[in-house]
Amino acid sequence: MAVTPDSSSEPSASQRSAPSEPLVVIPLVVIGAGAAGLLAALFAGRAGARVVLVETRPKPGAKIRVSGGGRCNVLPSQAELEDFFTAGSRNALRNVFASWPLAEVRAFFEQDLGVALKVEDTGKVFPASDDPREIVDGLLNACAAAGVELRAGERVVALRRIGSPERADEPRFELEFEGGALLRAQSVVLATGGLSLPKTGSDGFGFEAARALGLRVHTTYPALAPLISADPAWGELAGVSLRVEVRAYAGDKELDRSAGDFLFTHRGFSGPVALDMSRHVTAPGAEQVQLVAAWLGFDAAEWEKRLLAGGSRSVEGVLREVLPRRLVARLVALAQAPGGRKLAELTRDERKRLVRALAACPLAVAGNEGYRTAEVTGGGIALDEVVTKTLEARSIPGLYFAGEVLDVIGRIGGFNFLWAWVSGRKAGLAAAQALRERAVAPPAG
Ligand SMILES: Cc1cc2nc3c(=O)[nH]c(=O)nc-3n(C[C@H](O)[C@H](O)[C@H](O)COP(=O)(O)OP(=O)(O)OC[C@H]3O[C@@H](n4cnc5c(N)ncnc54)[C@H](O)[C@@H]3O)c2cc1C
Repeated sequence: MAVTPDSSSEPSASQRSAPSEPLVVIPLVVIGAGAAGLLAALFAGRAGARVVLVETRPKPGAKIRVSGGGRCNVLPSQAELEDFFTAGSRNALRNVFASWPLAEVRAFFEQDLGVALKVEDTGKVFPASDDPREIVDGLLNACAAAGVELRAGERVVALRRIGSPERADEPRFELEFEGGALLRAQSVVLATGGLSLPKTGSDGFGFEAARALGLRVHTTYPALAPLISADPAWGELAGVSLRVEVRAYAGDKELDRSAGDFLFTHRGFSGPVALDMSRHVTAPGAEQVQLVAAWLGFDAAEWEKRLLAGGSRSVEGVLREVLPRRLVARLVALAQAPGGRKLAELTRDERKRLVRALAACPLAVAGNEGYRTAEVTGGGIALDEVVTKTLEARSIPGLYFAGEVLDVIGRIGGFNFLWAWVSGRKAGLAAAQALRERAVAPPAG
């Protein structure tokens, strides 16, 4: 039986096939109803494809619901290519983002889904209501209106290639569900996310499936993850938070810097800046990378000026005016400076050591809190395995990828959702168009 995107003659997808029954063939199955999968399903559905969206969790969009501290930082207000990281081609990345400019993504949420958005001082964009359910419900309603069939609470355990790929009338993929039921598909969008926060349903299935299909998957690692300090003494500052600029160095070479809020935890460092910079020390081969902090974001010249202006006041007295008390005690100890001494009486070396502790304070890292708390997964399916224009696997016609499962991560601040929205839409549109073309092409042979 020839299966076309609009075919209404197939059995309903909800009559899932048991292994012994005739198999249902779905034109497009999207695996994973997270940010990327919801967009892929929605845009494919709107483009006329019959879409089944399968999701492990009983409720789709689990990560959207907990994101942004429970408020969903849905987008950044500005984005540059430099805000994203991949081992693949930056040109490829540029082309994917060019397909749906940020202003249009924002208009999609505001005008198409009808979710009012607000931009905060940090440049992050949130729903005006601070309620992530508006985003999830908006997407689910739009999917339903586009005819997408959602099947939540069903986990795919295997994805296999079947049939002869050149025959337009044959399904190309077989999905096996937990419990053994099978489903056949003409095309598949794999949008299963990474390994981070596995309780939201992303347990690395996409990486395993891609490897099993012979695709290259870069080593994965927790990114945007709280860090564990190599020096337990920082743990005494647990709960202290302040503004900071953190820089990452490989030797003398500065790799990156990030400024904003920073939080000491019992085991180390967290808060937006620590998370943002974490990938430099959690990625494979990052052993040589050193993080240093400039407290309050002041550079050495600024701290030097403040210390020199202190005159007859004590070191601790001046520093406590701008820095938390417990941090002052720690920095003075680190610098081996006499905290009670008048600033004017510090030796040049003591002042130099103090300035270093204030403007370039080493944050030695012994590890990270892992996928349990990481916001995203670095590494993943190599970008050069996909055709940039469609996000279809070069070697497997009909298989598309979107979102975190690919080797792309963004800074903290809405960039990871931006990637998920843009790549999801792109994969969905491309899959729907290819199905249309396949339906009109005469069967080969
Ligand atoms: C605590 C936290 C807060 C975050 N806050 C923000 C933020 O404010 N802004 C931002 O930009 N980013 C944020 N992120 C990152 C962002 O959530 C992710 O980058 C984004 O959700 C990735 O989208 P995705 O669709 O690729 O993957 P996911 O959102 O992980 O979705 C993948 C989906 O696939 C499903 N799935 C997986 N395997 C299977 C299977 N075998 N069968 C069926 N279904 C399957 C999963 O259940 C899941 O629903 C946050 C992440 C975390 C963990």
